[in-house]
Amino acid sequence: MTTQDDVYTGLGGKTVLDRFRLDGKSALITGGGAGIGRAFAHALGEAGASVAVIDLDGDRAEAVAQELADKNIEAISLQADVSDEAAIERFVADTVSAFGGLDIAINNAGINPNAAAEDITADDWDRTFALNTRAAFLACRHEARVMFPRGYGKIINTASMASLIVPHPQKQAAYNASKGAVVTLTRSLAAEWADRGIRVNCMSPGIIRTALIEESEALAPLVERWLTDIPAGRLGELTDLQGGIVYLASAASDYMTGHNLVIEGGQTLW
Ligand code: NAD
Repeated sequence: MTTQDDVYTGLGGKTVLDRFRLDGKSALITGGGAGIGRAFAHALGEAGASVAVIDLDGDRAEAVAQELADKNIEAISLQADVSDEAAIERFVADTVSAFGGLDIAINNAGINPNAAAEDITADDWDRTFALNTRAAFLACRHEARVMFPRGYGKIINTASMASLIVPHPQKQAAYNASKGAVVTLTRSLAAEWADRGIRVNCMSPGIIRTALIEESEALAPLVERWLTDIPAGRLGELTDLQGGIVYLASAASDYMTGHNLVIEGGQTLW
C-alpha cells in the first residue's frame, strides 16, 4: 500500500524515472526480427530487460539478438511461426527457461494482405485472422499462464490505428477488422485477468516510416496523401513508438489495463 507522501519521498525509494526501468525483467517479442518489433526489442533492452526475439525468419531474429548482445543486453533468438499453438507454447517455455521467468510479452507479429474487399480470398482472410487475431489470443493465454503464479505480468498487443479509422484510401478490410478484434480482445483479457496482477494493453501505431514505405515507389503518392491527413505533418518514426512500449512494459503503467495507446501524430482526430 502506498501513502500520499510516496509521491514526494519516492515510491519504494524509486523516483518516477526509476519506475520506467526494466532491470531484471524478462521480455519476449514476436515479429522481433524486423520493423516495429525490432525497435521494441531495442527499447526494452535499453531499458534493462533481457529479451527473447522471436520471428518466423530465424536469421532475422538471430541478427537482432546479436545487435542487442553488441549493446551488452542479454538476448536470445527463437525461430517460431506464431500462428502455430505448439510453437507458442515452446517459445514461452524457452523464454522462461532462458531467463527464469516471463514479465513482459509483446505480441507484435502481424500481416496485411492489402487486398480490396471484393477481391480478397477466404484463405487470405483466414490467414490474416490466424496471425493477427487468433495467434494474439493464444499467445496471451500461454504467456498469462506462466505469469499467474507470480501475480504480475505485462502483456502488450500490437494493434493499429486501422482499428479506429479506415486510413484513406487503403482497401484492407481484413486487416482493419483483425486489428479491431485485437483491441476488443485486449480489453476482454484485461478485465478477466486484472485481479491476478496481469495488465493487458495494446498499442496502435499510425503510419510508421519503415523500409517498406521508404523503398516503394508505388507508395509515394499514398505518402503524399497521408501527410495531409496527419495533424503532426509527418509520418511516424520507429523511435516515436519506443517510449510508449517501455511505459506499457514498466511499473509506471501498473494502474493501466485494457488501454489502446494510439501513437499516430493525431491522424485519428480528423
Ligand atoms: P514487418 O513486416 O516489418 O515485420 C514483421 C515481422 O514479423 C517480420 O520479421 C516477419 O518475419 C515476422 N512474422 C511474420 N509472420 C510471422 C509469423 N507467422 N510468426 C512469427 N513471425 C512472423 O512489420 P511491421 O511493419 O514492423 O509491423 C509489426 C506490427 O505492427 C504488425 O502487427 C503490424 O500490423 C503492426 N503495425 C504496423 C504499422 C506500420 O506502419 N508498419 C502500423 C500499425 C500497425
